[in-house]
Formats: sequence, structure tokens, C-alpha cells
Amino acid sequence: MDEVQIKVEKAHPNDFGRGIIRLDPTTLLSLQLSPGDIVEIEGKRKTAAKVWRAERQDWGQGIVRIDGFIRQNAGVGIGERITVKKAEVTTATKVILAPPEGVTMEYGDHISEIIKRNIMKRPLVEGDIIPIISSMTQPMTSQVGGGQAIPLIAVETEPKEDEILIIGEFTEIELRQKPVRGYDGATRGVTYEDIGGLGTEIQRVREMIELPLKHPELFQRLNIEPPKGIILYGPPGTGKTLIAKAVANESRANFLYIAGPEIMGKYYGESEERIRKIFEEAEDDAPSIVFIDEIDSIAPKRQNVTGEVERRVVAQLLTMMDGLEERGQVIIIGATNRVDAIDPALRRPGRFDREIEIGVPDTEDRLEILQIHTRGVPLAEDVDEDFLDYIAKHTQAFVGADLLALVQEAAMRSLRRALPDINLEDEDIPQEILDTITVCKEDFDNALRE
Ligand code: ADP
Repeated sequence: MDEVQIKVEKAHPNDFGRGIIRLDPTTLLSLQLSPGDIVEIEGKRKTAAKVWRAERQDWGQGIVRIDGFIRQNAGVGIGERITVKKAEVTTATKVILAPPEGVTMEYGDHISEIIKRNIMKRPLVEGDIIPIISSMTQPMTSQVGGGQAIPLIAVETEPKEDEILIIGEFTEIELRQKPVRGYDGATRGVTYEDIGGLGTEIQRVREMIELPLKHPELFQRLNIEPPKGIILYGPPGTGKTLIAKAVANESRANFLYIAGPEIMGKYYGESEERIRKIFEEAEDDAPSIVFIDEIDSIAPKRQNVTGEVERRVVAQLLTMMDGLEERGQVIIIGATNRVDAIDPALRRPGRFDREIEIGVPDTEDRLEILQIHTRGVPLAEDVDEDFLDYIAKHTQAFVGADLLALVQEAAMRSLRRALPDINLEDEDIPQEILDTITVCKEDFDNALRE
């Protein structure tokens, strides 16, 4: 076979930003590929990736795994199909890289060398987004935090056109400071790879939200009404906001955030006015997702003492929701810790009539969350997969936010260990010193004992 059509799933946390596609042995065999080969991937757009063997549990499932960058480069979402075939590869003579809008680059010495090392042997097509893994690029940007990959766009390549190129030893890398437009969305925002666990929950969120936002025609054809409002409920720090941001980003929808307690203004009419404005913005810029955090604070159950403001705010919210014109193009997500704490008037049909529980992660989910949050962290050799597994087993009842805090605390401890060797009077701390700072087992153990 020359090519296969195959379904896309999200990448494993450790694969994120590496430019790889995971194929199972059957697919490898039928395309006569071996791990390390480069394949051409085609969805709405053409791109390329390096082949790795799929993990055992994925064999025979008829899926490939690629991360959010490759999905964007190929113009596909999770669950959609791509065509995969062996690529003809040419070594690039030159690649010009530029940041997308919103990412500012600080060009220090040797940056293009560092970047080149980071993306050596990476395949690409002109116009691709190329993630640079951040632990190697910390001196470079001020805006991207740990655990992220910095996206750069291959604005121009030589040779150009549709060819699949690879970065080699003699490829000239030029960096441009001027940001490129039109690459918002998955380049900067949260993707499904940033969420650990919650597989079934993401699946449901996608069906309820991504599908109607992307393909309203499906719902029209079947004459079914896509949901307007969805409640996500579960303990704080489990990823409700994260999932809402990811689904907005992956559906290319605007994300508008309302902090429940903050919307309650002091003056008469102020809160209603704010809600009205946000809904107007959502409709003007549709498709949009309006996320109302702690929705129980603005719409508590009425028997729990409700004030005049709350009553008016709930009334306004309901008016705005009932008045939404194009169904499916504006979706409201409300988050709360307890689903039974909100005003039942909100939960009637045509309002917040669906709910999804976002629960506490189990051991396996915790491992995935730890992998995600250690992605951009320079780990010492003793912090390997087995050790992360050990932490996952010993952090029962930790939610995602707790695990993030644990990783940050461990990182702070490594910093404290390193401080005596650092001359803080120096304008810039030399790269050789920065390279020696790693987070080790002991840092994690101490952080856990807190
Ligand atoms: P919630 O909205 O449920 O209170 P958030 O989504 O705001 O929780 O979570 C806070 C932070 O904790 C997130 O930004 C993320 O860094 C981390 N986090 C929480 N849940 C997860 C998860 N399932 N996977 C990865 N990180 C998570």
C-alpha cells in the first residue's frame, strides 16, 4: 500500500512538541516504514512527521497519535482522518523562522544555534508551526512558562513549495523578530495534550461542544438542537477551566471568561451590564465559548439566602441565553464544585441542561499529569519514569493543581540548592551555570514532605 487513511488521536505527554507520529506495527508494515522514517501527513493541509512505534495498547486500534502542533499543521482535529504515506525528503538549505503574534522573542547570543540543535532532523513544510521545547530555550522568551513548547513558524524555506524538508547540519537558520499573523489558536493556547487523565470527559466535552461549533450542519441535518449550556462540576483544581480552554482552542472558538464572584458589581445594574456585554461580544465573534467560573456564586439555589443582585443577575443570564440566536455557535460552560448548589431555574431544558463531572484523578491520571507538568522542567537523571510513577502512587487525593504545585515546589528547592553557586550580581547568569540546574529526586521527596 502507498498510503493509508487513519484516525487521529492526541499524543502522549512525553511526545508533545517532538514532531513525531506514532504508528502501529500493522500500519508500519503496510506502508513499509520503520521507526525514524519521515511520513507525509495530509488533512486539510500537508505536513510531515517522524515515525515512532505506537505503544502496545494502541496496536490494532486504527489510530495514529500526533500532538496539537502537527494537528494544526495538517489541519485536522482529534477524531478526524489523515492520509499518511512515506515522504520524499530533501535537506533544507535555509529556513526562516518567526514567532506567531503574541509571542515575543528575546534574541540572545547563539539562539539560532540552540534552536537549530533543538530541531535538528525535524521534518517540516513551509508554513508549518515548529515547537521548540522550552527547557532548552529559557533565555529566549519572557512569556512562555515551563511545561510549554514555544511555537515558531517556518515562514520561508529553501527549497520551497510543497516539499518536505528536513533540518540538517548545514541548514542555515534565520530568525525573524517580526511576528507572523494568522497563527493564533493552538499555537499558544491550551491543547488536549495539556490535560492529564479525563479521557472520557474530554470525549464528552468534544461531542457536546466541539462538534456543534465546528459542524453545525450536522445538527441542522438531523434537526437536533446542540446544547447551549453545560455545567462542569467537581472539586477545585481538577481541570474544569483547563478543559474549557482546550476545547475552545481546539475548536478555534473565542474563549470569554467570567469569574462568578467578581461579576457581582457594586452599583445597580453593573453586573447585568457586564453580562450583556460579554454575551454580545460572544455573538459578534462567534463561534465562542463563555466560561462562567463558580457559577454558583452568581446563581445560588434560591432557598440559600439570595439577594436582590443575584436575582437580577440570574434573570439577565437567562434572558441572554434564551436570546442566543444561532444555536451551537455560542456555548456557555458553567463551572461549580457542587452541581446541586446552583439555581434550578438555570438547569431547565435549553439552558444548562447537560452536565459533566470532572473528578479527582486516579494513579494513572496523576502520572500523566506529572508528565505534563515536568515537560519543560530540566529533570536530573534520577527523576525517571519509575520515580514519577512512585510519586503518582504516593499522592492520593492530589488533584491536578496540587500536582502542579508539587512540581513547582520541587523546582524551587532545586533553585535553592543551586543559589550558593550563582553570582546574582551578574547581569546574565552564564549558560554553563544554568545548564547545571536540574530538579532531582531529593527535591521531589522534600516537596512531598511539606
Ligand atoms: P478548576 O477549574 O477545576 O478549579 P483548573 O483547570 O483551574 O481547575 O486547574 C488549575 C491548574 O491545575 C491548571 O491550570 C493546570 O495547570 C493544573 N491541572 C488541573 N487539572 C489538571 C489535569 N487534569 N491535567 C493537567 N493539569 C491540571
